Amino acid sequence: MRSPIDSYLADLYTDLLALTSGTPYQGIPAMADADTSKFAIALATVDGHIYHVGDAELPFSIQSISKPFSYALALDDNGQDAVDEKIDVEPSGDAFNEISLARGTGRPANAMINAGAIATISLVNDEESSRFERILEHFSAAAGRQLQYSEAIFASEMRTGHRNRALAHLLRSFNIIEKDPTPVLEDYFRACAVMVSTNDLAMMAATLANGGTQPRTGEQVMSKEAVQRTLSVMTTCGMYDDAGSWIAAVGLPAKSGVGGGLIAVLPGQIGLAIYSPALDPHGSSVRGLAASERISADMGLHFVRAA
Ligand code: GLU
Repeated sequence: MRSPIDSYLADLYTDLLALTSGTPYQGIPAMADADTSKFAIALATVDGHIYHVGDAELPFSIQSISKPFSYALALDDNGQDAVDEKIDVEPSGDAFNEISLARGTGRPANAMINAGAIATISLVNDEESSRFERILEHFSAAAGRQLQYSEAIFASEMRTGHRNRALAHLLRSFNIIEKDPTPVLEDYFRACAVMVSTNDLAMMAATLANGGTQPRTGEQVMSKEAVQRTLSVMTTCGMYDDAGSWIAAVGLPAKSGVGGGLIAVLPGQIGLAIYSPALDPHGSSVRGLAASERISADMGLHFVRAA
């Protein structure tokens, strides 16, 4: 039987399909022609139930939604103090690819912008197995199934990601990255090229909502401390230079990616994911933003509620 939530999502989907503004990300040629008619919404609860509508099984690249999960892994590998030494937790108010490094130290403003995310990758422990293998296992554990990455999207960004390459070398020059920056950059691009569906992202978001325990497998994928830190940084920095208006309108920790995905987390309750590849000028999905605003308002999810 169709639940009231399924009917609600079906109506919302029909309404927002009419939104046709925005363009797919042009910075990675392999993604430039994404089909803008595709749209999906998925909502996963912390007890592992998932409600979805639209193209919720269609795979796309996770892009920057990888950043909070890599950050949580780095926090669990190194502890908060060691990560803080390398990456700050201040909103930069800048675009995702801005060169937001502190004067003098070169410390990136936060782990949600590219500079901080590339530094994050260098902090993932690779003593026992390859760094990217660990990252992929971590994302898979959060999704509750084995994920893969797209060699084509990785190769495309390798050819065009000059600004990220420059950032990696700048981070090396400041000793924020202490190793050869080239393999670090490659693993950052691979992490961005991990293929997920909207249902996967909703489960990954629900793992964050559930204090790091995957709702279906019961695996503790991240520590509660790492989750708390990650959700805090998502709250202030997850939506780049749009973070202020996002938090005012939606009031949930979130992360968008230029692949067209977006996640939002209601701690203790819900992981929400939306996919639609047409992006606004900040690099966030147009339908993703609209759907989040509607769902937050209709379900009363904003963490600041007038009495
Ligand atoms: N791979 C993209 C980049 O580094 C990710 C950006 C994003 O999703 O915001 O430019």
